[in-house]
Amino acid sequence: MNHRCVHRWSFSSWGGPLDLQETPLEPPSGREVTLRVTDCGICHSDLHIQAGGFDMGGGKLSSLERAGTRLPVTMGHEIGGEVVEIGPEVTGVSVGDRVIAYPWLGCGECAVCARGDEQLCTKVARNLGIQLPGGYADLVRVPHERYLVPIGKLDPAHAATFACAGITAWGAIRKLSPATAEDWIAMVGCGGVGMTAVALLSATSPAKIVAIDPDPAKREAALANGASAAFDPTAPDALKTIARACAQNIAGALDFVGAESSASLAANLVRRSGEVVIVGLFGGEFRIPLPMFPLKSLTIRGSYVAGLHDLRELVALAQKIDLPKIPLDRRPLATVNQALADLAAGKVVGRVVLQP
Ligand SMILES: [Zn+2]
Ligand SMILES: [Zn+2]
Repeated sequence: MNHRCVHRWSFSSWGGPLDLQETPLEPPSGREVTLRVTDCGICHSDLHIQAGGFDMGGGKLSSLERAGTRLPVTMGHEIGGEVVEIGPEVTGVSVGDRVIAYPWLGCGECAVCARGDEQLCTKVARNLGIQLPGGYADLVRVPHERYLVPIGKLDPAHAATFACAGITAWGAIRKLSPATAEDWIAMVGCGGVGMTAVALLSATSPAKIVAIDPDPAKREAALANGASAAFDPTAPDALKTIARACAQNIAGALDFVGAESSASLAANLVRRSGEVVIVGLFGGEFRIPLPMFPLKSLTIRGSYVAGLHDLRELVALAQKIDLPKIPLDRRPLATVNQALADLAAGKVVGRVVLQP
């Protein structure tokens, strides 16, 4: 007999609105765990998931459906909650534990998963909030206890954002070479992830940060979170102005937008031997003269969320040092459709966290 129901905000057609759906939930088996969701961050990629895919440039779209994602979809991959049920084989967590869930599940067995990068699994994607039901719900079933990270005394709403915004920022920062106090690092795009990166880098690196965003409120928030300078990329002569303000010494640029304009700005801003990490999934494509690679000894690479070990590292870091907090906008779960619309319209500073 089903002993309880889960209430999920799900969409049943690609691009369609989210509706409240009630579904029976079997008791957990094996090493499964059920969380009562207390907080779930809204990620910009939820807009792409809801739309059904990403713009790959040249009019091409990736398709979640072709990749095997089935409707209805319950989004929400920044999940914080309390353990309320454990399977009979669970030993590492107990009912009542406050945790966040690592959502980027792979097969757990291939060579890439074995080295700790389940988010890049070569066999399957079983992500919470995409292929498996996510945190826009009152309860979430997590397939194995090892995906849970205890948060101790951390604010659960803030810690929930670590599962995507946090580790995406942390994973991208970790791809940069070590910097000195003379080096500048450019953060292109200061939404939830970019703002988290500003806060994390300022807490862990001597480098100076230049924040780049067209929105004055986001530039203001970035300065409050540790950036030394902030610029509007749409201003005339932005490239020259920014490069000069940073003494032509931008060692790395993180592109949290992932659009033609942002990636091209990042590649042109960095000094010789500079490193560009593309993180954002806005979409499109960009052209770059090939001689730039050898002449500048330029590195352009990508970064996609991060591994479970990165999440554990980030939670440990947050417990040790007082990370500047990205602005959180807490809203009731039932207002999820409005929150997604606000995010799409660029009306969100920092992160919206939904609370059932
Ligand atoms: Zn995300
Ligand atoms: Zn795998």
